[in-house]
Amino acid sequence: MNRSDYQCAGQIPNSFPDPPCSFGRVKLLVIEDEPELADVLVRSLQRERYVVEHAKDHGTALLKIADHDYDCILLDIMLPGGSGLDVLRELKALGKSGNVIIISAKDSLEDKLAGLDLGADDYLVKPFHIAELNARVRSVLRRKELGGSNTIATANLAMDLDSRSAEVDGQALPLNRKEFDMLTHFMLNKDRLVSRGSLAEHVWGDHADQGDDLDFVYSQIKNLRKRLKQSGASVEIQAVYGIGYKLVDA
Ligand code: CA
Repeated sequence: MNRSDYQCAGQIPNSFPDPPCSFGRVKLLVIEDEPELADVLVRSLQRERYVVEHAKDHGTALLKIADHDYDCILLDIMLPGGSGLDVLRELKALGKSGNVIIISAKDSLEDKLAGLDLGADDYLVKPFHIAELNARVRSVLRRKELGGSNTIATANLAMDLDSRSAEVDGQALPLNRKEFDMLTHFMLNKDRLVSRGSLAEHVWGDHADQGDDLDFVYSQIKNLRKRLKQSGASVEIQAVYGIGYKLVDA
């Protein structure tokens, strides 16, 4: 895959003013020796408003991980000077291996198992779409924000992000995929204003620049509100006129 393929795969809407969720100044490290791919990765992630650093070889990677803490690390396996798996071993020794996504050209089960065994969070085989990478990064950051548990609860509503299930007072709350993604975004931003644009971006990813989707957000919100109300959830989605929505205690 050449540079233009990656750029093509990485069409990211620029029309949304909100920074991603509550992540603030999140720091990422890209460990990748292929210059063009590294450049595309760094620029795409910067466009998501992350602070992004780059290490182009094994030695630089070791120096950076020793000196800094990163919220998420993208790690190539075949590096000049050594293996990415050794970088992962070092991260593990430093107690920092929890938020690594391996990006590898080799679709090797052995590497994958070794990487996950050493504490990597996820594994992406090149070539991949930038939108897919962004989704994986968000998932790693969300897991980190939740202290590794990947469950969220407020009042009588609980969500398990791994099994993608929700409960109100211990009773299953049936939600379709988009409703579940929207409710997750609201739960992570409880009592905070969520604009329609940021909601569309989080739930619909790189298709969110299509005007139709904002109407779709509106209809999905309507359904989600109804489901919350019918289930007796003690939270509700308030509309903030002309801007977006807010999840608050009912
Ligand atoms: Ca490489």
